Amino acid sequence: TGQRLLANVSHEFRTPLNAIIGFTDQLLSETPGPLNAEQRRQLGFVNASGNQLLTIVESVLESARVEAGRGAVSLSVTELGHTVRDVVNPIGIIAEDRGITLTCVCEAAVTVWADVDKLGQIVRNLVTNAVKFTDPGGVVEVRLVVEVEEVLIQVADNGIGIAPEDQKRIFEAFEQVDRADRARVSGAGLGLSICRDLCGLLGYGLSLESEPGMGSTFTVHIPFEPDMAPTLVGETE
Ligand code: ADP
Repeated sequence: TGQRLLANVSHEFRTPLNAIIGFTDQLLSETPGPLNAEQRRQLGFVNASGNQLLTIVESVLESARVEAGRGAVSLSVTELGHTVRDVVNPIGIIAEDRGITLTCVCEAAVTVWADVDKLGQIVRNLVTNAVKFTDPGGVVEVRLVVEVEEVLIQVADNGIGIAPEDQKRIFEAFEQVDRADRARVSGAGLGLSICRDLCGLLGYGLSLESEPGMGSTFTVHIPFEPDMAPTLVGETE
């Protein structure tokens, strides 16, 4: 299938890419000999471009893996607030760097069966995007909301927002909103398609509410399944 081809091609890309990155690293370390300023600058570009391409290739591999249904689901009893905080905290440093306030309102103590790695990847992608598409001074809030039949993980930002006509296609692989009012940001346009595929694999819903100029809220819907009975143990702190 197309996905298998994609996975093979991505894999074949990695070997030469690692050579490009490895040898430019080596040259930049000046172990083989000294560089002048211009050589260092140009090798720096080669190295950075190699790394950028490697990131893209790895995302493609990851999405192909998800689509192929591999990357087996591994469920464990998971305290959601804890899991979400563990993912969000490290991104706080990046947010702070960009002048964005990242808060986590995840005190509700709720335990479900979940795949911690995959759920973490979903939340990480959403929070990273929220930080990426919000201007300095903005606010990103991650919330855990317990409802009757499901738990919601919401990632809300007051950033640039997404026009109604773009709200569907950004969940497709390689789709990005291309606008003059958007600063060029890095990325392959794969994060949301990976989120969508992972949510599908785990039986979660994924929804979006957004208004251009006002911000966006992505919501992961985790159902309370009868055979995965969650225990609600009240509030902490
Ligand atoms: P990438 O972030 O690599 O471009 P994604 O699949 O994660 O790829 O996102 C696709 C596109 O959706 C982004 O390029 C951006 O245009 C838009 N987008 C995603 N999250 C947000 C957000 N929180 N606010 C505004 N636009 C967003």
